[in-house]
Formats: sequence, structure tokens, C-alpha cells
Amino acid sequence: MASPLLIVPEWVEQHCVIPDGDNRGNPFVLGDEQFTFVANHYMVRSDALVGQKAEAFIFRRSQLVRAQKWGKSPLIGAFVCVEGVGPVLFDGFASGREMYDCRDFGCGCGWAYEYDQGEPMGRPWSTPLIQITATSEDQTDNTYDALRPMIELGPLAEIIRHTGEEFIRLPGGGRIDVVTSKANSRLGQRVTFAPQDETGLWVKSNGGHKLASTQRRGLAGMGGRAIETTNAWDPAQDSVAQRTFEAPSKDINKDFRQPPAHLSFGDKRDRHKMFVFNYAGAPWVSVAAIEAEAAELVQKDKAEAERFFGNRIVAGSGAWLDFARWESKKATHVVPDKTPIVLGFDGSDVDDWTGIGHVPLSGGVSQHRAGQLF
Ligand SMILES: [Zn+2]
Repeated sequence: MASPLLIVPEWVEQHCVIPDGDNRGNPFVLGDEQFTFVANHYMVRSDALVGQKAEAFIFRRSQLVRAQKWGKSPLIGAFVCVEGVGPVLFDGFASGREMYDCRDFGCGCGWAYEYDQGEPMGRPWSTPLIQITATSEDQTDNTYDALRPMIELGPLAEIIRHTGEEFIRLPGGGRIDVVTSKANSRLGQRVTFAPQDETGLWVKSNGGHKLASTQRRGLAGMGGRAIETTNAWDPAQDSVAQRTFEAPSKDINKDFRQPPAHLSFGDKRDRHKMFVFNYAGAPWVSVAAIEAEAAELVQKDKAEAERFFGNRIVAGSGAWLDFARWESKKATHVVPDKTPIVLGFDGSDVDDWTGIGHVPLSGGVSQHRAGQLF
């Protein structure tokens, strides 16, 4: 049985602080959904061996898809802090009574953590190299702006003494850099952790595909790992987020909590229900404020509003059908052989494709006759 490196979320709550708002400077307490995502990312294999880095974990990387304003930036900030100076590498299973004592790691906060018997233990990287990554500076700024006060206003200020405008120096020669697809001279480096933000916007034309593959090679060389955070994406754009989500690999932790398909974003009451669902894991968010913002964006671009605040994969700037209604009608119909079937669709125009697929049913019944009509 796999078990999480539980010291990681505990360490985060002890060392990271809320970066902004009325509770600025107070301990950063993880919400249930945030805790689950962190715990899954640090899920240790039952056969993990001391000395293994990425291989000690069930997941090679993780993906979190949540609505706008859910609080992804502070969570990325917390990941960066713990990957920078916290116990994120597997260091054996406890036989009982072992302690993690902050004093042994240059932290004077007074915290110590006692492991249970059989629990995975953690240790920090000796020379961490972290790249906060996005396709534009605006996006990396979001993360960086949350990260700096998270360090400066809490106990981490004692360990991480210099938080500069451009990068942050870590003890032991490590550093936290900011990287975009436009300024990527540091990309070939051997990275230990990469939070990749808004991968729904990482497409081929803005260098996003190359950014992702180059960075993954750098991570693989070090046994490092990445997390992707994003809004729901436009399925016509073939973004990195979409590719990750559709990848069959079992070693990717995908966390995409989608609102029930029968709710229609165009209906005000349904939309309210979607927001209540989407922000349940972020009780610090005011649903009323989200409604006001979404209402404004709906006027301009309904599809984008549905992606951003509805947390739904919606095509283009104007979908030709109501995806929620379509999904709610989804059903399998088994028909006898030679039954005529009619398919209707809005064909592709520019920069997209049309494909007709079929799903063979188990038990010898075949649906592929639909394909023979073409
Ligand atoms: Zn400490």
C-alpha cells in the first residue's frame, strides 16, 4: 500500500503564511482539496528505496485543474517553499519515534515532527533548482508575487534571507528562478522542481510544447518532478494541459473536479450551482464576487467565462452546441446490424480537425457499422 509523505503538508502549514488579504501573515492552512492534491503528489510507493528521487513516488508529475480565483497561486507558492527547503525527498520508512527537527535544517521555528511507525520520512534536496514556469511574465508574476510574502512574512525569512526581484537564492547554493517560453536560456538546466502554470495556454505557436518537453527532460535528469496548474482549456488548441489530461500514462496524478454535466452555464441558477461546486474547496472565495465577475465576462466571451469560472472544457469563443445539454443526453444505444444511422456535425474550418470515431462494445456487439456509412 502506498502512503503519502505526510510531513510535507504539515511542514507547509507550519512554515508558509498567507501572502495577501486580511489574513496576510497568518499560517497557510491547506483546504481539503489542496491537502488532497499535495498528499497525492507525495504518495510514496510501498517498495520505495532510500536514495530514489522521483522513482520513490507513485506519480512522476501532477496536474491540478481548477476555476479562476480558486487559489492556485498561493498553493504553487507553498509547493515552491517546501521543494526549496522542506523534506520532500523520500528518506526511508520510520521504525517508530524518529523525529524531523527543524533545528537540524537551519530553521529556528522550534517545530519538530514525530513519525509514526511505517510512515515515509522526508529530507530536503541538497541543491534544489526550481523554475517557476509559464508562457508569459504576467503569469509567472502571479506566482512570484504570492511566493515572496509567503517567505518574507513568516518563519521562512530566517532560512531564505534574500528574496530578489528576479530570483531567490536558497541555502546550499540552490535557487528559485522564473522562466518563460520567451526567455528560456536557463531551460536546459537540471531542474529539481517545476511548477508549470496555466498550461491550458501552452500551445505550439507560443513555444509551450517545446517548453514542456525541454523542462521535463531537465527534470528527468535530476529525478525532479513537476506540477501543472491550469484553468480548463479550449479543446481546439491542443495545449499542454489537454495533452497531459488525455495522456494514458498511469503515473500522472490528474486532479480535475468538474461540475455535474447536467448544469448549464447559460442558466443563471445552474451557474450558481456550478460556482458553489467549484469553490467548495476554497471557502475563502466569495461566490457572490465570482458571480459578478463571471457575469461581466459572459457578456464579452461566454466560452471563456465557462472555462475560467465554470471549470469546463469548452471550445472556441462560441460553441455551436450547448456542451452541458449534449453531455446530459449521452447514452449508448445498441442497434441490430444493418440499422441505418445518421450522423450530423459541424465540420472543421480553420486550425481544427474533424474525426469520426467508434466505440466497439464488449460482448461481441459492434458499433463500427456507423463508420461504414462514410
Ligand atoms: Zn521550522
